[in-house]
Amino acid sequence: MTDNELRALAEQIRAELPVLVADADERERLDRDLGQALEQPAGTAAAALRQVLQSHPAVRDWVETDNDRSITTLPGDSTSQLGVLFVCPNRDYSTVREVVTSEVLVCPHDGAALERYDG
Ligand SMILES: [Zn+2]
Repeated sequence: MTDNELRALAEQIRAELPVLVADADERERLDRDLGQALEQPAGTAAAALRQVLQSHPAVRDWVETDNDRSITTLPGDSTSQLGVLFVCPNRDYSTVREVVTSEVLVCPHDGAALERYDG
């Protein structure tokens, strides 16, 4: 899930909170936590957002149900590591590609062609 997807999800959940969470204190806490996470700069908000999204069972359920619609799984699930890992033969660099292409990936440190890592 990208930063933007998480942000969109968080905004959506914020709007759904009155339906999702009956307890007023919990709802306020979630709204505040989501707001704080959303205020973090792009690129760093993801971890905070994920944490909030997993901090309440109703929200977690909602996110999991939402998977059917558009979103991939949250970290913590064994299936969260989608994409293919490529590593430098000199083990100084690795990167993940969501989609496998025929493009040759090159290590930015030493220019070696990256190898697909199958675990
Ligand atoms: Zn390298």
